[in-house]
Amino acid sequence: MFNKILIANRGEIACRVAATARRLGVRTVAVYSDADASAKHVAACDESVHIGGSAPKDSYLQWERIIAAAKATGAQAIHPGYGFLSENEAFADACAANGLVFIGPSAASIQAMGLKAESKRLMEQAGVPLVPGYHGEDQDPAMLKHEADRIGYPVLIKASAGGGGKGMRAVEKAEDFAAALASCQREARNSFGSDAVLIEKYVQRPRHIEIQVFGDTHGNCVYLFERDCSVQRRHQKVLEEAPAPGMTPELRQQMGLAAVAAAKAVNYVGAGTVEFIVEQPGGYDHPEQMRFYFMEMNTRLQVEHPVTEAITGLDLVEWQLRVASGEPLPLKQDELKFHGHAIEARICAENPDNQFLPATGRLAVYRKPGHASFERSTVRFDDGVREGDAISPFYDSMVAKLIVHGATRAEALARLDAALTQTHIVGLATNVQFLRHVVVSESFAQARLDTALIPREAAVLFQQDRVGRELAVAAAVAQTLVHEKAGETPDPFSRTDGWRPFGLTKRRFDFEYQGEALTAQLAYLHDGALHLSVGEVAGPLSFTALPAESGTRIDLQFHGRRQTVQTWQFGETVHLFCDLGAAVITELDALAHAGETAAEGGRLTAPMPGKVVSFAVKAGDAVKKGQPLAVMEAMKMEHTIAAPADGTVAELLFAPGDQVTEGAELLKLQSA
Ligand code: ADP
Ligand code: ADP
Ligand code: MG
Repeated sequence: MFNKILIANRGEIACRVAATARRLGVRTVAVYSDADASAKHVAACDESVHIGGSAPKDSYLQWERIIAAAKATGAQAIHPGYGFLSENEAFADACAANGLVFIGPSAASIQAMGLKAESKRLMEQAGVPLVPGYHGEDQDPAMLKHEADRIGYPVLIKASAGGGGKGMRAVEKAEDFAAALASCQREARNSFGSDAVLIEKYVQRPRHIEIQVFGDTHGNCVYLFERDCSVQRRHQKVLEEAPAPGMTPELRQQMGLAAVAAAKAVNYVGAGTVEFIVEQPGGYDHPEQMRFYFMEMNTRLQVEHPVTEAITGLDLVEWQLRVASGEPLPLKQDELKFHGHAIEARICAENPDNQFLPATGRLAVYRKPGHASFERSTVRFDDGVREGDAISPFYDSMVAKLIVHGATRAEALARLDAALTQTHIVGLATNVQFLRHVVVSESFAQARLDTALIPREAAVLFQQDRVGRELAVAAAVAQTLVHEKAGETPDPFSRTDGWRPFGLTKRRFDFEYQGEALTAQLAYLHDGALHLSVGEVAGPLSFTALPAESGTRIDLQFHGRRQTVQTWQFGETVHLFCDLGAAVITELDALAHAGETAAEGGRLTAPMPGKVVSFAVKAGDAVKKGQPLAVMEAMKMEHTIAAPADGTVAELLFAPGDQVTEGAELLKLQSA
């Protein structure tokens, strides 16, 4: 085993690797960028080395500096995590040339699987089933179009060097092909430095099922069962589970052996994942008819590896370290067993109700579910941030991974919903409530899985207000009274229910809730009780409140319902979390807002910091509501800015390639 390793990554995966290294007595070296100077992963390691600016290309992709850091600190090996340099064969080679062990497969294996098109040609030779498609070298647009026509629509265009759901376009019909190709090539050039693409038949209602494989330097290779990652948005995984619902032992073995054959075809060493797209011609109820096709192999540890750890009881990072130090695999195929069911939810800084637009900001409140711990627990929470940390635009928007394990899928599901309910994040938009909606949706609960689950269930996933304005107002009123009470001098007769000595008085509150102004009336009754009316709804309000860590726990009764609500107050804004969901409500000072006009007409601003990729219009153009005006790139994805109303473009305020800050005005639009 190594004495010391360097972890060439950041965030949760760097912390994850450091935890296993620590357990095994292996010392760790962190590397960090300017933005990460005080990041959790730096604290998680024994030593750290600053390697440059905040943008990945100035730090985490600067492999000469990383190798120099390893040599300077006496590290014997480098763990690349996922993303960044993990699938960079030049880096793997450079490690070897500098006498360092790259904790991963050989440069030759990475190269063979690195390009989607080439790996498909290789898999075809190894007898692994492929999706019908074109993966040749000729990239002439007319020829690609011809191939797409031959395959038949819908087709999927994929960046040959792509990954992480980026550089992929589905094309429904022939007319749309040229535009989709251009946009795919542009994203591919920006993200992967190559615009080569391949074309595949778009499989209808497929599942994504992948096999975890592991090889060693003694010629052994095993599979550690499957993970179902069908629940996706923008071709990126949202929920992952193991085992795959409906999987039969026969199909598991067939897929496992195909994955091992794929790995052996490239002499694979270390942890890898063979991803399959699975057709279900018999529908959800006939899983025995599932047909699988090779999609790609990820030559690294995968984000969702914890679900495999949960069902097998193994530590895959430990296996990686053992294999990289020359030991044989700890177990043989027939010694591998799994039990129970595990699900992982990716908690991301993004706004699901606004096309999953990534969000940046500070984690003002960041509370993890109770009893979450790193290892051997039914609730595991892997992250790389702490309360108060910033989520910056430089890196991935994933904040944390929540992993649950249960004896059955139903048990795991219940545990996941409970743990998400206890995950409280304030300060930026996250997908936590959205994840809860997915988890309890009929399709997911019934395991009717395919990659279109999210669009299919859209009606119950997006724009959901499960808290309701009555409860939100009642909680905000209670919060205000608790707050006022806390400011008073202690009084032996004080009661937190708002008791007042002078008979009945009334009080008016103005709130903003879900973009709407609301008025509530609170009456203090002669017996000390409270009466609240919110619109049509009126009734007695009573509550007790307890300070809980920094927030407040309010046990609330209003309108015949009882709810325990956890609140955090920031100025006039109250963030509340309860079993039903989460909500934000702001008390308005009626006078301060009296003169304010409603719309900011004509301003079109960047929704987030990023780079302007292109403008689709020029000054003087007449545009229709919803028409694309500009494309921005931020957090490694492209976002289209559309016209909010009909109008005329007055002026473009930036040029393609410009960096813009959040809220920067991109162009001026004159309303029609
Ligand atoms: P996986 O296939 O492992 O489940 P994805 O493919 O969805 O995960 O995401 C992995 C991708 O995330 C990488 O290919 C890369 O583009 C991006 N990435 C790079 N570095 C990081 C990082 N430190 N944390 C999270 N994601 C990263
Ligand atoms: P990445 O490298 O970004 O992970 P993949 O090729 O692994 O790209 O595909 C990612 C996702 O895109 C899959 O999980 C699946 O949802 C979808 N997908 C890929 N290929 C197809 C296909 N031929 N038909 C339908 N969906 C596909
Ligand atoms: Mg993939």
